[in-house]
Amino acid sequence: MIPVIALVGRPNVGKSTLFNRLTRTRDALVADFPGLTRDRKYGKAESAGHEFIVIDTGGIDGTEDGVETHMAGQSLLAIEEADVVLFMVDARAGLMPADQGIAQHLRMREKATFLVANKTDGLDPDSAVGDFYALGLGEVYPIAASHGRGVTSLIEQVLGPAVEEDESAESEYEQFAGIDGDIGDEEFDENAVEDEEEDTSYLENLPIKLAIVGRPNVGKSTLTNRILGEERVVVYDMPGTTRDSIYIPMTRDEREYILIDTAGVRKRARVTETVEKFSVIKTLQAIEDANVVLLVIDAREGISDQDLSLLGFIINSGRSLVIAVNKWDGLSQEIKEQVKEALDMRLGFVDFARVHFISALHGSGVGNLFESVQEAYRCATRRVSTSLLTRIMQMAQDDHQPPLVGGRRVKLKYAHAGGYNPPIVVIHGNQVKDLPDAYKRYLMNYFRRSLEVMGTPIRIQFKEGD
Ligand code: GDP
Ligand code: GDP
Repeated sequence: MIPVIALVGRPNVGKSTLFNRLTRTRDALVADFPGLTRDRKYGKAESAGHEFIVIDTGGIDGTEDGVETHMAGQSLLAIEEADVVLFMVDARAGLMPADQGIAQHLRMREKATFLVANKTDGLDPDSAVGDFYALGLGEVYPIAASHGRGVTSLIEQVLGPAVEEDESAESEYEQFAGIDGDIGDEEFDENAVEDEEEDTSYLENLPIKLAIVGRPNVGKSTLTNRILGEERVVVYDMPGTTRDSIYIPMTRDEREYILIDTAGVRKRARVTETVEKFSVIKTLQAIEDANVVLLVIDAREGISDQDLSLLGFIINSGRSLVIAVNKWDGLSQEIKEQVKEALDMRLGFVDFARVHFISALHGSGVGNLFESVQEAYRCATRRVSTSLLTRIMQMAQDDHQPPLVGGRRVKLKYAHAGGYNPPIVVIHGNQVKDLPDAYKRYLMNYFRRSLEVMGTPIRIQFKEGD
């Protein structure tokens, strides 16, 4: 499970600044669900070689009385949702009474907590943090969020030492495909292009992890019930915390699935805590853990910014995607046309995903969803040989030469698969890292068209030399 880090502290200590720095490192995709989560902001972050979800809790208002008031609302919930709390204090302001209150609460919760002294820029590091040991939370980590100083090493402390980027990509692939060995760096012999086709049929027999996600009230529960109602279901009473989704094994058309239920349709036997019906963390973790994500949109509401935030997360995660526009029943032809037009406009950037118009309530269109889910999974996990990828790369290069960079022409030499779900194409060549984004996009679209890939993003990685 992708770890969750919450930023907690008085207003003005620099939480948003740190949040922005952590999420910006990777196309800041922020899920902001106003009304639902009050001031909590969620972002996917990458730092020190780790990916994680970061929650910005907004301010705990230090002017209010009493710890429980300070800690009320979203900050409390964010602490519950998080694996680790970064408790931020202001090194310039020094230790404040409200800091004491927050510290007391965190000690009580016994949550893994790191005490972070921000705004240490221009301060003597030792004297800047000395005061804060009095909070009794152990080590004080000095940073300057606005300058980025100390941030990477802080994250390293929190999540452990960085793993080599390439290694992690490969091990993820190996783990997924159940393969040992150094596929990514295999020697390429131009004379032995026809590499052995690896047998990937076992992938077809793995259950497809399918997450059903969407904003509240779009019809996730109705859809899940509809899907399950038609199948024989074994419901597991999964252990875990309330933020976890329920995993439901099911079979459909002789294909096995594990439905990741974020809507809480199948509840555990004992649900004691009151949980928000909709949890962003639950949704984000379900996306990370799925092979294919089914994003449900409400035809009557149209595409909202919240839908787009979710889409951003899904694309960023590299998961396969099928879109279900629900509540398609009882709409006039005119409204249907309008909805379709609006979808075309706002969903242009996810043209790889199949869009279905369904009624979870009446069941229409639901069966067809599974064809697209299977297609998306198949495309995301298909084994493509080095020779084919190299041939396609060569065709793309012949059709449209790479530009000159620094007076020299970029040369693409060969391509091979670097991973699945999402498919990664690794291209080796000279000066490939200098290729402009427009050419990278051209290559990606060329691969997509040539390989007829639907339902999954494709990633291209470039490696210098042979
Ligand atoms: P939040 O209310 O905790 O989210 O705090 P903000 O991120 O909005 O920051 C409050 C103020 O502190 C802003 O004016 C920031 O520019 C400033 N700030 C944040 N981080 C730093 C830092 O590392 N050094 C300095 N000098 N100022 C900072
Ligand atoms: P969730 O919060 O995403 O799980 O949404 P629910 O499944 O609880 O549905 C929210 C509301 O939308 C309920 O009143 C459902 O009856 C209604 N609803 C769900 N699917 C459909 C549909 O296909 N057509 C119509 N007309 N209403 C639907």
